[in-house]
Amino acid sequence: MLPRLDHLELIAPLYQQYAKQLAQSQFNGEINCQYSARLAVATDNSIYQQLPQLVIHPRCKQDIQQLTELAAQEIYADIKFSARGGGTGTNGQSLTPGIVVDLSKYMNRILEINIEESWVRVEAGVVKDQLNDYLRPHGFFFSPDLSTSNRATIGGMINTDASGQGSLVYGKTSDHVLGLESVLISGDALSTEPISIEQAKELAQTDTSYGNILKQVFSSCVDKRSLILEKFPRLNRFLTGYDLEHAISDDLKTIDVSRLITGSEGSLAFVCEAKLNLTPISTAKTLINIKYDSFDSALRHSPTLVKANATSVETIDSTVLNLAKQDIIWHSVRDLIKDVENKVMDGINIVEYNGESVESLAIEIAELTKQLDKDIASDSGVIGYQVTSDLGSINKLYAMRKKAVGLLGNTAGNEKPLAFAEDTAVPPENLADYIVEFRALLDSYNLHYGMFGHVDAGVLHVRPALDMCDPEQEKLMRIISDKVVALTAKYGGLMWGEHGKGYRSEYGLEFFGETLFTELRKIKAVFDPFNKMNPGKICTPIDSSEILVSVDDIKRGTFDRQIPITVKDSFKSVMECNGNGLCFNYDAASPMCPSSKVTRDRRHSPKGRAGLMREWLRLLENKGVDILNVEKNINGWSVKQLLDKVKNRLSNSSQQDFSHEVMEAMSGCLACKACASQCPVKVDVPDFRARFVNLYHSRYFRPLKDHLVANVELLTPLMAKAPKFVNSILSSKAYDNISAATIGYIDTPLLSVPTLKEKVAQAGYQAFDLTTFQQMTVEQRRKFVFIVQDPFTSFYDADVVFSMMVLIEKLGFSPVLLPFKPNGKPQHVKGFLNRFAKTAINTAEFLNQLHQLDVPLIGLDASLALCYRDEYKQTLGSKRGDFHVQLAHEWLIIALDNLNRNHLVPTVKSNSQTEFKLFAHCTEKTALAGSEKQWSEIFNKFGLSLLSESVGCCGMAGTYGHEKVNFENSKGLYELSWQPKIAALEPEQILVTGYSCRSQVKRLGEVKTRHPIEALLEAINK
Ligand SMILES: Cc1cc2nc3c(=O)[nH]c(=O)nc-3n(C[C@H](O)[C@H](O)[C@H](O)COP(=O)(O)OP(=O)(O)OC[C@H]3O[C@@H](n4cnc5c(N)ncnc54)[C@H](O)[C@@H]3O)c2cc1C
Ligand code: SF4
Ligand code: SF4
Repeated sequence: MLPRLDHLELIAPLYQQYAKQLAQSQFNGEINCQYSARLAVATDNSIYQQLPQLVIHPRCKQDIQQLTELAAQEIYADIKFSARGGGTGTNGQSLTPGIVVDLSKYMNRILEINIEESWVRVEAGVVKDQLNDYLRPHGFFFSPDLSTSNRATIGGMINTDASGQGSLVYGKTSDHVLGLESVLISGDALSTEPISIEQAKELAQTDTSYGNILKQVFSSCVDKRSLILEKFPRLNRFLTGYDLEHAISDDLKTIDVSRLITGSEGSLAFVCEAKLNLTPISTAKTLINIKYDSFDSALRHSPTLVKANATSVETIDSTVLNLAKQDIIWHSVRDLIKDVENKVMDGINIVEYNGESVESLAIEIAELTKQLDKDIASDSGVIGYQVTSDLGSINKLYAMRKKAVGLLGNTAGNEKPLAFAEDTAVPPENLADYIVEFRALLDSYNLHYGMFGHVDAGVLHVRPALDMCDPEQEKLMRIISDKVVALTAKYGGLMWGEHGKGYRSEYGLEFFGETLFTELRKIKAVFDPFNKMNPGKICTPIDSSEILVSVDDIKRGTFDRQIPITVKDSFKSVMECNGNGLCFNYDAASPMCPSSKVTRDRRHSPKGRAGLMREWLRLLENKGVDILNVEKNINGWSVKQLLDKVKNRLSNSSQQDFSHEVMEAMSGCLACKACASQCPVKVDVPDFRARFVNLYHSRYFRPLKDHLVANVELLTPLMAKAPKFVNSILSSKAYDNISAATIGYIDTPLLSVPTLKEKVAQAGYQAFDLTTFQQMTVEQRRKFVFIVQDPFTSFYDADVVFSMMVLIEKLGFSPVLLPFKPNGKPQHVKGFLNRFAKTAINTAEFLNQLHQLDVPLIGLDASLALCYRDEYKQTLGSKRGDFHVQLAHEWLIIALDNLNRNHLVPTVKSNSQTEFKLFAHCTEKTALAGSEKQWSEIFNKFGLSLLSESVGCCGMAGTYGHEKVNFENSKGLYELSWQPKIAALEPEQILVTGYSCRSQVKRLGEVKTRHPIEALLEAINK
């Protein structure tokens, strides 16, 4: 049996006392002491892991003042903090053994916009894409870019001085900060903006925090200016953290303390609000994808492209390209990066031009393409190019480029591409030679790596593959890190050209030199004299004896290596999450990850869940538990098991079990599977969640509703024998109340009347009889199509299945309704894995028999049909057989093609002008990337128009939305993206492929919607 798991890392008494006192103060935010919450922020995208004592989520600036004022009391002298935004740092910037102050959960409001003066004021937790979505209708954008734009916050961007594609033109974040509202560790508020030297001198005379800071600025930045100019490299990616150079303007007329805070990695102050400068959106863009025979050819060509006045030049090597080709994202860009016949494409440069209109760019584009034609002819390494001015296509290409870092994590084997020397910057003219040496260094250790970067700014992204579970490779990482520092210095560059210093802060002294590093320490001292703000990052205060963090500090590998290899192999995707945070995607219209979006709780994301599972597996191993063996031995029930569960329920000590915290995080998952396809390394939460739930309930009782859900495929066919009677009970208020109070199930849907069975019988469709079909010839069977039933569509939405059968008939085939066989998905979702395995064996056996007949099998519910492909394969392995259940659109697209060739597609007489809108089921569109396009092609074949709506999860996800505990989240999800889109359309326009989604729209939007099949049929019938 699964044992009880103690938390090993208790909160230090001082922090407990601080938390208690803070809770009793005017502080309005959340204070979270749970081990799971602390674990969720113990990692970022770096190789490091550091468990904090507490996690605090302030709601406003006053909350931050409360928590700093309290910490300023002498008894709390040893309390330390680190601010955190998206937690996407690649060098452990936000990790701390103290308190994590997460500004992303609540402090994410856009406060003010001034169009005339082109600025916006925002709270620090606003996500970069959130800001740009808000600004777009106003014709502006916040121009510094970064690959993590859908989850990184403005606070994080400011504190790492983020930049990315287009930095040659748009600069870094610091170039766009007009003013900051911060809170110092003393609790003092600090407003900073550029002020005149005279004003600064005056203020420097005052005995205030700001006055003291300005005094130090004069001494460190003005007095040492010539040394600063000599020491700081002249790069587009100039040196920040701390930016001694730009704290005073080039003309020496103004001083701007915001410039010191920008890039300070939370080591100086909490940034609460920022006033940001806005850039008008260019109305036209043209992108040229230039293809090369080698990465070296791409790099050597890039200076020419920069000279050709490009807005940006991005490069990608073949390793990254090949990884992208295996990802779902490739479907969106494959036509934009076509292979070149008889050539191997081993690198590309993506060149962007911006302007008022496509016509205004035409001359530059024509000149460049003329040159490219010559380059192709002269075998100079250029093998082809493609040009596009379509903004949709351009966005798709950049989405692929932005996913590149994450994709690098998706490599086979234990060695994984790691971030530790991944953002070096050298003068662009040195880049190609620098990379030759960089590659020679990595090759000398036989390391694998992919490369891409912003060649226009001389920034290279490279993540060498190493296994941090292997102590020898951990040592090698330090050796390579030191060598890259030396190599970068040799080429006049920076080790941290983009992602900040974090655990690499120890190299600061080498880059700044003794004198200037001392100035950094003096600046730190004036902001944070007791080293309480993200201690160890960048530098320590001048008189402090505390030390910096180190490249050699505790890494995630230290914990991961405690888990046995067999367990790691078995829970592969748990281990492979690299923390890049793509699953925190802010975009309400993206399917990734609904529970994370609606709760804004990092534990309720794929990353959070994977992290909790890793710790759970580690704690079990430390307790000497062979978890795979425990899992193997879970079967049936026994009196002993029952008694043990009673004992566990009654035992007080069982209240303190880490498994409960893991269960809490797993319970919030909708099992939508978006993570399994959208995550760059395909972290499949529903898979390991089902295994965890199964194991958890080997120790603890299951709730009644789990049994109900798991038995839904047995109960529903029985209920459908007397649907009117059952409906009369289900629709009563009394039933709803009892059901909510006892099993926690609400809004139970009503059964279809007449039933599907009755409709089919009435229509006179041929009944299924295996022997009859086995006796037919291949030719005779060719006209048949089998309908695989599922418990939801068949029993609750019979019209859809029946419409499919009629449509099949209209297309000249004979539909046959197969007898209902349980699919098992509900059992899997609730972690009844032994029962699921039995169901899967039986149903697979039946479907494999049908597969022999070579008659198409069609299912109508995406999540159940795809369960045959995924969960069946995972559970049955080779025993699954080869049967293939197609979704309606998969079959239609092929069938219609064949019919079209013979002019047999029925004509639509309705002349329908309706512009249909497709709301596709998220499992369908994430697992089958081309599905929405195929639906629209199908409609086009009938002369009808169907456009896809971008929506996230509807919030129903099978039975999730019917569970009372999930109702608020379910409703919240519906309101995020579905509600406004549904409300803006006429009901007859709305076509919804998922049964769950149709139920949700009916329940919360009070609109009855149709499946696309029903609309097609109606159009044909008219
Ligand atoms: C896949 C991937 C791609 C990336 N690509 C880019 C890129 O193209 N360009 C780029 O610049 N970076 C990139 N990064 C790095 C990272 O996304 C950036 O550094 C980003 O700016 C961090 O923002 P965040 O909100 O996640 O901050 P966090 O990681 O949470 O914090 C970063 C630092 O800022 C501090 N901080 C955060 N908020 C505040 C606040 N309100 N007050 C004070 N201090 C604060 C933290 O203490 C920490 O030191 C990438 C990272 C990943 C994982
Ligand atoms: S689950 Fe996937 S997307 Fe989320 S952090 Fe981990 S690797 Fe990234
Ligand atoms: S299955 Fe869906 S809800 Fe669950 S973790 Fe994955 S994306 Fe999030």
